[in-house]
Amino acid sequence: MVPLIIPIFLSAIGCRERCLFCNQKAAAEGLPSPSSVRNFIEASLAEIPYNKKNRKKQVAFYGGSFTAIPRDDQASYLKEIQPFLASGLIDSIRISTRPDALDEETLSLLKEYGVKTVEVGVQSMVDEVLFLSKRGHCAEDTVSATSRLKRRGFELGLQLMIGLPGDTCDRFLQTLDRVIELKPDFIRIHPTLVLKGAPLENLWREGRYSPLQLEEAVQWLKRGILRLENSSIPVARIGLQPTQELERDFLAGPYHPSFRQLVDSAIFFDMAVSLLRVSQKNGQALFFCHPKEVSNLRGQKNENIMRLKEHFKLSKILIDGKPELPRGYLGLQTQGEEVSIRRKSLVL
Ligand code: SF4
Repeated sequence: MVPLIIPIFLSAIGCRERCLFCNQKAAAEGLPSPSSVRNFIEASLAEIPYNKKNRKKQVAFYGGSFTAIPRDDQASYLKEIQPFLASGLIDSIRISTRPDALDEETLSLLKEYGVKTVEVGVQSMVDEVLFLSKRGHCAEDTVSATSRLKRRGFELGLQLMIGLPGDTCDRFLQTLDRVIELKPDFIRIHPTLVLKGAPLENLWREGRYSPLQLEEAVQWLKRGILRLENSSIPVARIGLQPTQELERDFLAGPYHPSFRQLVDSAIFFDMAVSLLRVSQKNGQALFFCHPKEVSNLRGQKNENIMRLKEHFKLSKILIDGKPELPRGYLGLQTQGEEVSIRRKSLVL
């Protein structure tokens, strides 16, 4: 089961330059000090609801590049977690960082303090995209850092972005192919948004950057997700978590609070189309799927159903949710025949 995360946000910590898309502020006065971490964890543990007390708990240092700060400072933060690890109140530690700040000595320090999971901000495996986004590292840095992390036994998460300057759907799929070879334990994918205060805002205002449209981002991600699923790599999250800061700073780009559902609905739409194309129709269709996927088949506001009706001239579409069916399966009955498809076999 996914651990319960106790997040400690160290905004822009360790960042040398500002990445083009980032509006995190390096606010030293707002940064939690190592000594405040202990109180924060105690307060967070006390707030965990009774029905979640038995879940594994992981302290996560998010924001910025944890391993790009001086080693003594890293150690100061990590030391504060040690009593919780020793008492079993916390099960593990996670940090997020950049690929060019993960040398052997740094990994030794993380091991020494019991860090289990390292999330690496990869963003793209195309050097031109990384350069245009002012990331300050190249794809090879990711390859070498991830091989060290795997060799030293860390759980490895990779964060990717789509729609950065210079990015295309083909480049995103190339990135995925290279990332799949690195065998991460999980992946997160965020569409690039224009945020207030990020350097990208100026480019966008000057007309030199256009974010992806929402539908375009869904189409890229649909192909990407299927590729990852066929490689059995879990996708921990698609799209940014809706927060007050995001609502406040969002200017443009493919933002949706339920991005994952949009992508799953797009996949189910394609599955339904491929079944309807090969079946006999008499103006009606009866689909079968797992009950938890009925909403994916319907799409947001029943959009999939309306589009399917119109495209295939159907007067009625019924959906039967059957708990015995596996997730990712879609069956269709028309005029006495039944056809089915698995999302893994969808060819895009
Ligand atoms: S994206 Fe990460 S590494 Fe880049 S400036 Fe923002 S916090 Fe720093």
